Formats: sequence, C-alpha cells, structure tokens
Amino acid sequence: MYSFCRKCLSSCLRLLSGKTRTNALKRTLSSSNGPERALAKYISSKIKMSGPISVAEYMKECLTNPKYGYYMNRDVFGQKGDFITSPEISQMFGELLGIWILDDWMKAGKPACLNIVELGPGRGTLADDILRVLNKFSHVVDDVSLHLVEVSPKMRQLQKVKLSAPEMKKEELEKPVEKINSKYGIPVMWHNNIKGVPQGFSCFVAHEFFDALPIHSFQRTKHGWREVLVDVDEAAGPDNLRFVLSASKTPPTVYIQETETRDRVEICPEAGVIVQDIVQRISEDGGSALIADYGHDGEKQDTLRGFKEHKLFDILSEPGTADLTADVDFSYLRTMCGKSVSTYGPVMQSYFLKNMGIETRLKALMMNTSEKEQRDLISGYKMLTDPKQMGERFKFFAIRQKSDITDIPAGFTSLT
Ligand code: SAH
Repeated sequence: MYSFCRKCLSSCLRLLSGKTRTNALKRTLSSSNGPERALAKYISSKIKMSGPISVAEYMKECLTNPKYGYYMNRDVFGQKGDFITSPEISQMFGELLGIWILDDWMKAGKPACLNIVELGPGRGTLADDILRVLNKFSHVVDDVSLHLVEVSPKMRQLQKVKLSAPEMKKEELEKPVEKINSKYGIPVMWHNNIKGVPQGFSCFVAHEFFDALPIHSFQRTKHGWREVLVDVDEAAGPDNLRFVLSASKTPPTVYIQETETRDRVEICPEAGVIVQDIVQRISEDGGSALIADYGHDGEKQDTLRGFKEHKLFDILSEPGTADLTADVDFSYLRTMCGKSVSTYGPVMQSYFLKNMGIETRLKALMMNTSEKEQRDLISGYKMLTDPKQMGERFKFFAIRQKSDITDIPAGFTSLT
C-alpha cells in the first residue's frame, strides 16, 4: 500500500506546476432580485398566522428561501460581496486540500473509483483547484468524479461556468443541467443532498458549509430550557421582528445533553443528520471527510451573527439580504459521528496548512511570477495562516473509515 509520507507530500507539491491560477481574485456581484422587504413581509405574515418561529426556521428562510434566500440568487463572495473565503483568497488552499484527498485515497489502498464530494461549493473555486491537482495525477487515479451538493441555482450556475471548458457555449451553461464534463476531463454532477451521490469510495469536503446550516438557540431559565424564537414586533413598525423566549419547552429541547453546563446553547440538528449520512457512506463504502470552518469544541454560547458588506449586520433586519452564520460546534459533530468511524481534530487552520506544506508550495509559486503576483501570494499566505486573521479562527476536522491504518491523516500531525 502506498501513501504520501511527509517526504512524499513535499515531492507531490513539487509536481504541481509553479503556475498561479488565472482570474484568482476577479469578482463580479449581481444585484439582488427581490425587493428588500419581501422576505420580512413573508416571515411576519407566517408568524402572524401560526405563531413565533424557531431561529432555525428563520435562518433557513433567510438563507435558502427559494425566491428570496440570501444564497439563492446572487454572488455573495469577494470584496464586492459580503465575505471572502479561504479558497477565494489563495489557490494554495484548494491545492493542499486536493493533495489531502489524494493522500487519503492512497492510504486506503487506491480503491478503484474516487468520488470527490463537496458540500456547499460556493463559486466552485475550491473544486476547481482540487480538480487541477487531481488532473496532474491522472496517471495515478483515473476513475475520479466530482459531486457537488448545492441548494442554490445561482451557485450551481457559477460552479458550472468555473468548471466547464472555455469553449462551452453560453446557452449550454444556462441550461439547468445536472452533469457536465469539466475542463479537466473529470465528470462533475450536482446533487440536492448526499443521498444522490453514487456509491463508492468517497472523500467529502465541506468548507464554510456547516456554519450556514440552521441552528436552534436555547436559554437556560429558572423553569428549565426555553427556546429563543423570532416574533413580530408590532410596536416597532410593520414587519419588524424581535427575539422572544418560548413560554414552555419546545420539542427541539431534546437535543440538549443532560450534562450541558452552558446557559446559552446553539444546536444544529441538520448538521447532525448530514454528518450521520457521511458517516454511513464512509463506513459502508470507504472514504474520509474534511470539514473546515470557524468553530469551537462545545464551549461557545451565542455565536449567531449577520454579515453584510464585510461588516456585522443586525440578524433581524432586512432578512434575506445578509449572510447569517453560526460557529460550528465540532464536539457536537464528533458525538454525531458515533463509534463506527475515526475522527481527528479540530486543529487550527495554520497548523493544518503548515503541516500540509503551504510554505513549500508558496516558494514554488513565487518563482517565475511578477512582483505583484508575489505580493498577492504572500498576503494570501498571511491571511490564511496568521493567528490574528484566519489562522486560528478556522479549524479542520476529519472523519475516516475505521481501519488498521495507524498513521493519522495528513495535516493533523506535526511535520517537525
Ligand atoms: N465552500 C464555499 C462557499 C461557502 S458559502 C467557499 O468556501 O467559498 C455556503 C455554500 O453552501 C453556498 O454555496 C450555499 O449556496 C451552500 N448551501 C447553503 N445551505 C445549503 C444546503 N442546505 N444544502 C446545500 N448547499 C447549501
């Protein structure tokens, strides 16, 4: 069985060309289609009809309502959008994740087929960087396909444009197809959820996906746990919203552990269900998962927040126009994994990327590039790894099929 040892990781990095990807930071932003208040009106009429809704229901409407949801009809990333993510900052991020996938597939004994499954692929930049790496190793892995789990038609469109060959006709790109042949010759398929991904050895990747899933929020009171709900705030004006506490225990309270010591708790049952689906696939068909996000290990209390134009934004104002996000509780994900798989981490992003060889990759890319490109590469490296920027806030967590492989996944062990 062959897998990348530390030395192999660096020789693998050398095999990647020294070329920087093109259009790395070019962005466009299409404006919102829906009137700013449309979703507020819809949510407040729903509440008026059937009572206050959970934070999870509110978050789901805001992010993925088919007509007015934040992700559904605009490009939200980049300097002109609301936030910027690691794959958009530097190609090195996606390349190192590509190498991680290849390494884990090799450690598993190079199974005949490799499904790469990305959850919430955004603009498709991470997928593009991963496929470019896989394409360089087509002599090692040939039966590989990419599966994108994406809820937003607009994002699917951006992903298709990013991954297709430049000669693909505009009309073709506009068709809501579920399958294309990528510019790397690797087939790409879109799915609504993991269940649609064909069986076989699969490597799952989720970057800034779990933080977008709806959370329930609870407050400890002298009467026991009460759920935080969203209600209309008639006094503040039409369609205004406010947080209230449920008068009695609500059914999702069952998710709170008996041993819980915090006074405020956020729980994301949808994350639990998705992780269990991943675990089932990994334990039945083989594979691994790499989950990267900002998060904590079960100690944080109240992390839900809104972002608009790179600034914090009131969660209840103009629903559907701002990103809503909550820190991922990795301890909850670990619990949901159960005992049939092995879990690793969370480790900090700086630790993971340095152990994956980001500095070697940076040096290779710095050769044969203009001074401007070198400055961009260094600033991207700093942003990804600096503890004060993304280096410590973002964490990596891995799931792997239980087996007799004793070495832990690349990136999760120190190189020194
Ligand atoms: N991974 C990308 C984008 C992160 S933003 C990056 O790092 O740049 C979150 C992504 O998840 C978007 O593509 C959004 O449309 C998608 N998404 C949000 N909720 C989803 C859901 N329930 N199912 C599938 N995709 C979802």
